Amino acid sequence: MTSTASLASSSERSADVSHAWALLEQLTDPEIPVVTLRELGILRDVRASATGLEVVITPTYSGCPAMGQIEDDVNALLQAHGLQGRVVTQLAPAWTTDWMSEAAKDKLRAYGIAPPHACASSGTGAASVVQFAARGAKPEVVNCPQCGSTNTTETSHFGSTACKALYRCLACMEPFDYFKPY
Ligand SMILES: [Zn+2]
Repeated sequence: MTSTASLASSSERSADVSHAWALLEQLTDPEIPVVTLRELGILRDVRASATGLEVVITPTYSGCPAMGQIEDDVNALLQAHGLQGRVVTQLAPAWTTDWMSEAAKDKLRAYGIAPPHACASSGTGAASVVQFAARGAKPEVVNCPQCGSTNTTETSHFGSTACKALYRCLACMEPFDYFKPY
């Protein structure tokens, strides 16, 4: 194939966009294989540009190590299907756990990860962007995904990944990950 992308007609381009959407919607999170990037709200857009497709992703928080893997996955998938494209990382508006679909939250729970709570203090809006300074904040009440008990305790602020905190349920004694809200 030669680089004739810029000569492609607009109908060809929109066919590529729908093809790419159909493929990319299947991509799952590298760390949580039960939910797709689309359901998590990480995959934002697929659009045609003069130089090929642009796949817009927004990281769950800046510096999330999974983003490199996600970019590789997107590129590999597009290439495997003969699509030309590149990943565009969009940082604004910042990702929020509100973008996560209800279906994704159900799947997280079924997978043993407590889904994020909706941000309790709305009104501050964009001010709640990624802050590690929140460490000293009051502990949240997190329901155990196994038994639903609220009698849980945070054992590590950074769990299996920096996006999650490690909790333990004091009712059923099971440890679990809590996907921290942003
Ligand atoms: Zn429990």
